[in-house]
Amino acid sequence: MSELPSADRVQKIATEAFTHIKKWGLMPTPENYELWFIYSSESEPEMNKVVDTIIKRNKGYISDTECYNIFNDFLSGNREEKSVQQAGDQIQKTIEDVNDVVVSAKKRAEKYGGSLAKANKDLASNKSKEEIGKILEGVVTDTEDMIARNDELEKMLKDSSRVVEDMRRDLEIARKEAITDSLTGLSNRKGFDKQISKLIDLAREDQSHHFSIILLDIDHFKNFNDTFGHQIGDQVLKLVARTLKEGVKGRDVAVRYGGEEFAILLPETDIQGGLKVAELLRKEVEKKEVVNRTSGKAIAKITLSAGITEYRPPELKDDLIARVDAALYSAKNAGRNRVVAAPSADSEKSK
Ligand code: GH3
Ligand code: MG
Ligand code: MG
Repeated sequence: MSELPSADRVQKIATEAFTHIKKWGLMPTPENYELWFIYSSESEPEMNKVVDTIIKRNKGYISDTECYNIFNDFLSGNREEKSVQQAGDQIQKTIEDVNDVVVSAKKRAEKYGGSLAKANKDLASNKSKEEIGKILEGVVTDTEDMIARNDELEKMLKDSSRVVEDMRRDLEIARKEAITDSLTGLSNRKGFDKQISKLIDLAREDQSHHFSIILLDIDHFKNFNDTFGHQIGDQVLKLVARTLKEGVKGRDVAVRYGGEEFAILLPETDIQGGLKVAELLRKEVEKKEVVNRTSGKAIAKITLSAGITEYRPPELKDDLIARVDAALYSAKNAGRNRVVAAPSADSEKSK
């Protein structure tokens, strides 16, 4: 087991973490705090390298979105690993306990068998009534003892199987949490990576399994935060996430891809079908407004831009993402609140 750091050191790391959050103007979310705590503790050197590279590339700046993506890449998985490790340890302990009980039950059964064999032998020789009575009394006591122990064993085995069942459920919850974005309840980047890899494998094996991907980004989202504060910003994110979730069906997966970016994976859907879904989602979001609670008046509209494309086997995942990202970028450049399909951006532009 690794040694616990001293209170002084933890205090120093925590202060440093807050200094970073303040310095870069980041939101003091649990994720940001965890990221900068780990950064200051230098316990994930690979993560620190990525953080430093981004700050250097941005010429002395790092955004919430970039932090969010780094958190997803480096840290969100640790929780799952820890839960799995703990669950594994507990299951192992339960198995060891059951094993101990079974071994001692086996020994007891052997002893009981021995005492029955002895009684049998004793009874075979000529014995007086009293002696026979004593032998039978012994057999009855041993049998009662054996029954009581077997009941105990049965109860213990039942308890153990309940523990294992609880652990299985906890593991399932931990697994789901690890691939879920806590703010919106959508699948997170990690869940996305798992899903898209499965779809790519399937499409490479059999080209009839085509799939499409939509990348969506809220327009001028920074304005919501700057004008109304982060809490309203978060409410907007939740509202958009809900609209996307409600707007897709069946096997389609809605994902929070990054800060205010979302993705939709559409299995068994070609580019035409995907374009229809993207346009529908864009229109649904466009209907939403930020309303002032006190006056009940609409104070801002929410719109998003989207890129859509169909996977072209056997292309690499990064190339697919780059194509759909380029389509999204074109949608932004063309004035926002629109959908652009890659590759024929001009012919397949909607709205
Ligand atoms: P564009 O139309 O070009 O997409 O403009 P934009 O303002 O939406 O884009 P930009 O990438 O400049 O800003 C995104 C903002 O999203 C900046 C960041 O602070 C904010 N953000 C990222 N994650 C969260 C979050 O979880 N909650 C809140 N409230 N804001 C977030
Ligand atoms: Mg963005
Ligand atoms: Mg945006």
